[in-house]
This record gives sequence, C-alpha cells and structure tokens, in this order.
Amino acid sequence: MNNNPTVLKAEELWKVYENGQHKRLEVLKGISMEVKAEEFVAIVGPSGAGKTTLLNLLTGMDVASEGEVWIEGTSTQEMSPKEKSRLRNQKMGLVFQFYHLLSDLTALENVMLPARLYSYLSGKALLTRARELLEQVKLLDRQEHFPSQLSGGEMQRVAIARALVNDPGMLFCDEPTGNLDSETGHEICQYLKMLCDKHKKTIIIVSHDDRIASAAHRVLHLEDGLWKTVNSPSQS
Ligand code: ADP
Repeated sequence: MNNNPTVLKAEELWKVYENGQHKRLEVLKGISMEVKAEEFVAIVGPSGAGKTTLLNLLTGMDVASEGEVWIEGTSTQEMSPKEKSRLRNQKMGLVFQFYHLLSDLTALENVMLPARLYSYLSGKALLTRARELLEQVKLLDRQEHFPSQLSGGEMQRVAIARALVNDPGMLFCDEPTGNLDSETGHEICQYLKMLCDKHKKTIIIVSHDDRIASAAHRVLHLEDGLWKTVNSPSQS
C-alpha cells in the first residue's frame, strides 16, 4: 500500500435483510476496509457475494444495517440523504455496468448532468469542461449523439466522462466491463488504469473481469459477505 492519506474507510459494515418472520439474509457480515489516495482497488468474488451491496454502502447510495463509512476522514453516519448526495457529487464519480445514461439527452448533455446538481462550473466553463472530457475519451465528434446512437463501449466512455465532470478524487465502478466485448472491455480497463496512474484518481472497482483484477494495485476477495484471504502477490 502507498503512503498517501486514507480517502475511504469502512468499519464493520453489515447489511441484513429481514424478509418476513424467520427469514434473515446477512449479505455483508462486518466488512472493514481502507483505501489510500491514488490506489486502484478491485473487489472480486462470485455472483451474490455482496459486491454491489458493498459498493452502494461505500458511496452512500444504500444504508448499512450496522457499521460506519468515512470519506476523506468525514463520517457519513449522521448525514441526511441530501448531504450524502452532495458529498457523492463532489467527491465520487460513479460508473455502472449498464451505463445509466439518460436516453433523451445527448452525450454532451449526459456528461454535463452531474455538474447541474453540484459544481463550481456552469455556463461556458462547464461546456468547455464537458467537451474536453469527451475529447479525452475520443468521442468529441459524437457529442450531439443520443445513447441509442452509440455502441456499448462508446456509452461507457460517455459514462466515464460524466463521472469525471465534477473532478472527483474517487471513481467507483460496478462491473464497468461486464456488458462489453473483450476488446472494448480491455480498452475501458486501460483507460481506468490511466486515470489512476496519470490523473491520480483513486479507483474502486467491483468486477468479474480478470484483466481489471490484474490491473489493480490490490485485489480484495469477497465471498458470502466476508473477505476471503487469498495468498497472491497482488494482495497486500
Ligand atoms: P454481487 O454484486 O456480489 O453479485 P449483490 O450485492 O448484488 O451481490 O447481492 C448480494 C445478495 O443480496 C444476493 O443474495 C441478493 O439476492 C441479496 N439482495 C440484494 N438486494 C436485496 C434486497 N433488496 N432484499 C433482499 N435481498 C437482497
């Protein structure tokens, strides 16, 4: 692990669903973790292990049954949903398997969207920033296209540009290559690695993709709601 400051800390996270009288489903069973600035961490594990649930707790999109999350040293425990949403918009970029682009907005409008909720940028400066990001993902010529006019890889590149518009320090990605063919998945993986190496972003990825795991500085194995210890050189 590097010597950078801790940007994300989770302690004893539990997620339990009570379904009816005697049904209790423990999805996460006391997960703790720490991530340093500029780390690239991959969370891997079988389907149903609790990976998406964990990512949703870390980003404040879902509430833990027990446990606490700190973002850059600030506890999110007592924050209202609105405060969490603001924190997310300022400090986190989110990338999903199915892109979550708005179908009636163009690529450019999709990229600008998070900045409309929170940003120090607006007007012409925002437009310039969004176009710069589309240029970085090599889609400037498609700025007026709607998601339905783009391929899966192109939609994911728009989604990554959108995640970066407020210049967050951290990117959280849930199976970002899960819906892409192998070559396109490889390109997205390389791009995320470049964002970490060159643009100093902290990257936390949930993935089944071996290439993502091999690109990561650290691989955490989640199984049945618990960390599984694996003796591998990438585990620190
Ligand atoms: P993974 O991302 O590793 O595939 P998930 O975090 O999506 O796993 O899901 C972990 C487990 O939590 C699964 O068994 C899933 O069915 C269960 N689960 C997720 N959401 C709910 C819910 N709202 N109610 C009950 N069980 C849920």
